[in-house]
Amino acid sequence: MLACIASATLNGTVGHPVSVEVHVSKGLPGFAIVGLPDASVREARDRVRAAILSSGLSWPLKRVTINLAPSAVRKAGAGLDLPIAVGLLVAMNELDGRCTEGLSFCGELGLNGSLRHVPGMIALADAATTPGLVVPLCDVHEAALVRGGDARGVGTLAELVRVLRGHAEWPAPSARPAPVEASGGVPDLSDVRGQRPGRRALEVAAAGSHHLLMVGPPGSGKTMLAERLPGLLPPLALQEALTVTRIHSAAGTLPEGALIERPPFRAPHHQSSVVSLVGGGSGSLRPGEASLATHGVLFLDELGEFAVTALEALRQPLEEGVIRVSRASGTVTFPAEFLLVAAMNPCPCGEGVYVGSCRCTLAARARYRRRISAPLLDRFDLVVPLRRPPPHDLLYGLPGDPSALVAERVAQARTRAAARRSAGEGEIRLSTEAASALEEKLRSGELSARGLRKVTGVARTLADLSDTADVSYWNVCEALMLRAGRRIVTQ
Ligand SMILES: [Zn+2]
Repeated sequence: MLACIASATLNGTVGHPVSVEVHVSKGLPGFAIVGLPDASVREARDRVRAAILSSGLSWPLKRVTINLAPSAVRKAGAGLDLPIAVGLLVAMNELDGRCTEGLSFCGELGLNGSLRHVPGMIALADAATTPGLVVPLCDVHEAALVRGGDARGVGTLAELVRVLRGHAEWPAPSARPAPVEASGGVPDLSDVRGQRPGRRALEVAAAGSHHLLMVGPPGSGKTMLAERLPGLLPPLALQEALTVTRIHSAAGTLPEGALIERPPFRAPHHQSSVVSLVGGGSGSLRPGEASLATHGVLFLDELGEFAVTALEALRQPLEEGVIRVSRASGTVTFPAEFLLVAAMNPCPCGEGVYVGSCRCTLAARARYRRRISAPLLDRFDLVVPLRRPPPHDLLYGLPGDPSALVAERVAQARTRAAARRSAGEGEIRLSTEAASALEEKLRSGELSARGLRKVTGVARTLADLSDTADVSYWNVCEALMLRAGRRIVTQ
């Protein structure tokens, strides 16, 4: 007696179709799973057995062989519990094989027969090759993001058996959840008093997608500013929203299967491991913080405290927008396209020579600076020095523009930049004064060729923010100021 049930498995953030073949034969009772299962798939036997028994169905005292095809694809996670159980019931004639035609099954089984959430439902739903798809009730909204009404949710194995036997209707899903922000509510920029340079740097970073490093003592508002950056970015376009939702779904962090429509904000701790930053892991491959920040902001507070290996691992996503994790079973690619914002103290004691009360030795300062490698520092278009706002600013300072207003200026600047790109305007047009100012900096050695590209890029964004066709002298001056923090980090 043989049954064949369609399903899917997750590899990174990508799903692969899987065919679950169940063979039940005479002989010594036994249970074997073949076809490159990982440990959690091999444990399916115990969950499936308990779930079948507690659903009032019988477990075969026969020889059971499960083959997961294609055998070249590694099968991970507990999502294959449900197709294995359904296949067993068909192979034992508890269910008519015809009622599973045109359906794929994905879901983890609890010992009491309940169906449980599996991560990566969006990718699994995408990979399923049949017209219909049966998933745990709690995952039906996530599956419906790509499958619409073809996704069916059930709460328990017993309920599924009743539906497949024609004794009950598919249960109605709960109301569709509202879209979520990947990181909860975003605080508003108008809460920040004083800090004009910091607020301006955020606006420029958002408008031109420029990576930003803030250098300043504790209490200079670096974290407060960084947290407000997602509120300045435009909402995600539908394709971006699906990409982001798919990554968070694969990580198992998606609340209630809702579409993420706002740019995510991720702030990993400086003690984070390389795996938690860029993804991987020994069991099923999980996306890391850099992937979870895709189309949003990755904020590294205390940049100087991160392990050198962790920072080096971020170079690939910064250069290519993806992370490749190599495995014996092949390479998995995670999307990782984020706006990098980092913050650091100017020196180990935090005060910095420019603020005045630094207590560090020259050697300690030099060691601290060496933690940020030159290639990493070069990734930041904006290196902005920050100071603690004076008490007067905190008490009486006027609040800055609200996030909504800044976001509007950012959106307009981005529209202008996109229009220039689609018109094929590659060269950045400089006014005569702007060009001679840059020439002077190049001649004096204050600016390298690489630095020149960065400065003109930022100056172009500044011109877009003020809606001018050519980059002006003042745009260049401001762009130079917006990288003045490099002096603190490199000297
Ligand atoms: Zn110091």
